Amino acid sequence: MGGKERDTLNFLRYIKYIQKVSTCTSSFQPCKLPPTSAAAKFHSMRTYFQVQEWMHLHQEQFLLDPMDWGWEIVQGAMLPILIDIAAAPGDLLDVIRCNCKTECRTARCSCRKHGLVCTSGCGECRGESCANTVTEVACVGTSDDEDGL
Ligand SMILES: [Zn+2]
Ligand SMILES: [Zn+2]
Repeated sequence: MGGKERDTLNFLRYIKYIQKVSTCTSSFQPCKLPPTSAAAKFHSMRTYFQVQEWMHLHQEQFLLDPMDWGWEIVQGAMLPILIDIAAAPGDLLDVIRCNCKTECRTARCSCRKHGLVCTSGCGECRGESCANTVTEVACVGTSDDEDGL
């Protein structure tokens, strides 16, 4: 997307957001944005860790501690750490989530009203069990998805 050397990932994410919203013919999909700097940090750490492990495969145990490189133990399972700072200010995240008891089909759903699909942050539907999810909402104008950064 023509970023300059000193542009931060979060700045590019913001620019992409503005471009998408101003040209969008359907509801805006946050998953089409570049990752946040926090998400990219942990992804990079895991990549470095994995490469180091592959380079030292002959060793019996981990060269580095995965817990220092973007992994955490949750309920006995090793899981990737996704982010350590919220994707948006808390006040904003409170606004753009819904608590619908029904299927989020009408403008009474605050997500739908703002042109957003429901996410795992939503109270009842969790972005999975309603009619306002990425799979239900048709992807229109996705031809510019491969432009990367
Ligand atoms: Zn809803
Ligand atoms: Zn919903």
